[in-house]
Amino acid sequence: MSLFSKIIRLSKVRSYTVINFALISFTLSIGLYVYSLLIHYYSPSAIEPKYGKTIFSSLFLIVSLIPFLASLRIIRYYEHIFLSTLFLFIHYLIYVSYLNGYSLDYLLGTYITIFGGLLMLNSRVLIILFSASEFVHILTGVIASDLDAASTNAIITSISTILIFSFFVINGNLRQKKKLQALNSKLESQVEERTRDLALRAHELQEKNKDLEDFAYVVSHDLKQPLQNIFTLSEWLLENNSEEEKLHLIKKQSEHMYRLIEGILNYSLRNEKYRDLEAVNTDDLVRNLIIDIDKKYTINIENALPSVTYNKSQITQVFQNLIENGVKYNDKKDVLVSIKSIERDKDFLFSVTDNGEGIDSKYFRKIFELFQRLDVTRHTNSSGIGLALVKKIITRNNGEIWLESELKKGTTFFFTVRKTE
Ligand code: ADP
Repeated sequence: MSLFSKIIRLSKVRSYTVINFALISFTLSIGLYVYSLLIHYYSPSAIEPKYGKTIFSSLFLIVSLIPFLASLRIIRYYEHIFLSTLFLFIHYLIYVSYLNGYSLDYLLGTYITIFGGLLMLNSRVLIILFSASEFVHILTGVIASDLDAASTNAIITSISTILIFSFFVINGNLRQKKKLQALNSKLESQVEERTRDLALRAHELQEKNKDLEDFAYVVSHDLKQPLQNIFTLSEWLLENNSEEEKLHLIKKQSEHMYRLIEGILNYSLRNEKYRDLEAVNTDDLVRNLIIDIDKKYTINIENALPSVTYNKSQITQVFQNLIENGVKYNDKKDVLVSIKSIERDKDFLFSVTDNGEGIDSKYFRKIFELFQRLDVTRHTNSSGIGLALVKKIITRNNGEIWLESELKKGTTFFFTVRKTE
């Protein structure tokens, strides 16, 4: 796996840290070697543990190469590896400063490394631990050595100043970083929300587009047919004097066209009559609807239907379409349609069951689409708008609609109506 993909797999801040730490490690490796050589050049009496510079120089070199060689698992702990090495090195420097009686050449290098090391930490606990251990180490060293009071004071004051200053600087930075992170995550969640919103809108738009396509189709196709028929029939009438049968046909075609246009208008739900919500007693409503249906069909209301808050025209459309379908798409001698309701926790579950021809389960979704008719030859007065309109009304009112059906046996349409809180 390449370094690049390793870095990508780590979070952004971390990958930045890996590269940063590797560079610092490399610089330290070379820097400390050269620094030590220079010190020995100018003050040959300087004391250093025998392999000190070589060991730390190599250690930093290895640490700087880890990202290029090691597995991703180790890179996860890279920060810890680097900081531990640095921690050891700082204590080594403090020790070397002590060996050299806190001479300026070593003290300066130690201070710079302490300050730089602290700047790299990003947790207050770590800063306090690093500072405390370094302070204690320097303090014990200074007390143990035979420095005069002025030098002792100067060293303790300067190291305290460095530690306190670094703490405040880093603390301020950390606070700023936290604020930025909070802002960032807020922004991220906002972006997420917007994206979700957009996806929803896109979906709605898609649906609308499909509706529009369907409209274009019905206008150009379904409406054209009855119009064509009317035209042909009127020509006939003109040529062959008036004939009652043809007049009836014209009437039928006009009615079909009227039904189509009415259906399209209703489907848009823009109609004034679809605006207001009110308390609707569905029991009365369904009983009134049944009065208009031919008495040769049996329509049963199985239990007292509830009162719901709905737009009256819409809920009427729902029951009317479902009950009429149960009668219309019914091949039995004794047509039977029954209506039932069950009260549930948050809604009422209504069902309309018929003993009709049934619907193949592969059409369970399709029949709710606009202008979908299953048997065009047998049901010439079907427009395929009814169920699409019913579904639109139900879902607009936060309900659901579905069906169960068995071919030749019958169909049950279920739909839910939310209770008002
Ligand atoms: P329409 O408004 O013309 O009645 P629908 O959208 O209500 O059209 O119905 C679409 C198609 O679904 C119908 O053409 C019919 O084939 C089928 N269908 C609807 N209800 C039933 C039912 N209760 N039993 C069998 N088929 C049905």
